[in-house]
Amino acid sequence: MLKDIALIRMLATAATLILILATSPYAQSSDSSRAIDTTVVDTSAAAGSTDVEIPDEADESIYPMSEERKAKLASYSRFNHIWRFVNLFIGLGILALILFTGLSARLRNWAKKAKKKFLVVWLFMILLLVVDYLLNFPFSVYRNFVVESNYGFMNQTFWEWLGQDLLGLGLSAIIGIIPMWFLYQVISKYRKWWLVFAIGAIPFVIFFIVIAPVFISPLFNDFVPLQDQQLKTEILDLASRAGIEGSEVFQVDASRQSTKLNAYVTGLFGTKRIVLYDTMINSFTLDEIKFVMAHEMGHYVMHHVWYGVAMVIIFMALALWITSRTITVVIRRFQRRFGFERLGDIASLPLIMMYVTVLMFLFNPAINSISRYMEHQADTYGMNISGVSGESAAVAFDKLAVYNLSDPDPPAIIEFWFYSHPALKKRMEFVRSYVPN
Ligand SMILES: [Zn+2]
Repeated sequence: MLKDIALIRMLATAATLILILATSPYAQSSDSSRAIDTTVVDTSAAAGSTDVEIPDEADESIYPMSEERKAKLASYSRFNHIWRFVNLFIGLGILALILFTGLSARLRNWAKKAKKKFLVVWLFMILLLVVDYLLNFPFSVYRNFVVESNYGFMNQTFWEWLGQDLLGLGLSAIIGIIPMWFLYQVISKYRKWWLVFAIGAIPFVIFFIVIAPVFISPLFNDFVPLQDQQLKTEILDLASRAGIEGSEVFQVDASRQSTKLNAYVTGLFGTKRIVLYDTMINSFTLDEIKFVMAHEMGHYVMHHVWYGVAMVIIFMALALWITSRTITVVIRRFQRRFGFERLGDIASLPLIMMYVTVLMFLFNPAINSISRYMEHQADTYGMNISGVSGESAAVAFDKLAVYNLSDPDPPAIIEFWFYSHPALKKRMEFVRSYVPN
């Protein structure tokens, strides 16, 4: 769950955490075309010197793309385009089931055995998370394990995958209670609860987006200082040109889970760090890595993460406002079936989750348009700082498409609605025509 740290993924996860008050699998299912923040390319040696082209077994068969891989890319893309919609309806269907069968009310009754109010809320949230997890489990196994394995991305056994999935569930059960408790406190106290919650949630959002990845990601992967000294020097050199002082460069064993490529810059003050996936170190040339890292530094320098925080708060406020204006009518209409009469009853949580799921889906185009613009800015910045442009930069995108099986040229409506990054074909055209300054 936390291995995709692209900007929007973090936003979506944080928004989901805050809004849905726990990470629900369907709201942030892994989906390669969204996950990619980076961009780079080339066949370099295995974790060692990065600018020497020594194709290892894996590289040889992957880049440049064979006819067989082209067919795979097409079918993986088609699958992802369809899955986005299937996933939405699975998520909503499960929540509707929990609501309309009165299960949510029954879970609340069980939770009430805990007596203390805080514990009742927590227990209810955990019960709901577990029920939701179990109902979603077959779909989650299919999408996140079976499909990923079929396309050759999976580097984990089923049990390793399950272990980490359960770790994610456990973390949600621990962390989710804070925003959830806060939400029901403000619902019972304020008429304009949507506004109070949105403002009060600012520290949570900052925590989830900016700080938590630094502490949570190490639970899933090992982070070690970048081993390749030459590469490290080059990256630190880029960082000082970008004005990012005092950062550390880490490599993460992302290959433990998946063969997909990525990189990011995250953190705040003492937690600032530049992170490279080992999968990328093994597959990209020095120039390609420099371009990608400069792109990531661009996000950092241009404060994109703070725009992201602002965006989450604004869209969350909007979603909750719409919810507050309409949800009581729905509750009144179905109160006998739901088994609760007031929004302030914690049994209403699945209904709030349904609202948020639908509204965030509708907000996708707006959020992703802003994100694509920031990605474009980061591409420009990346070329200016690294001096890598034209064909070398284009190859980075090409490799990204090939390694991650991302559709370089998706249908326009799919890009508009779901892509947090411009289509790779557009990014390639741009870097080929741009002259760095
Ligand atoms: Zn980016």
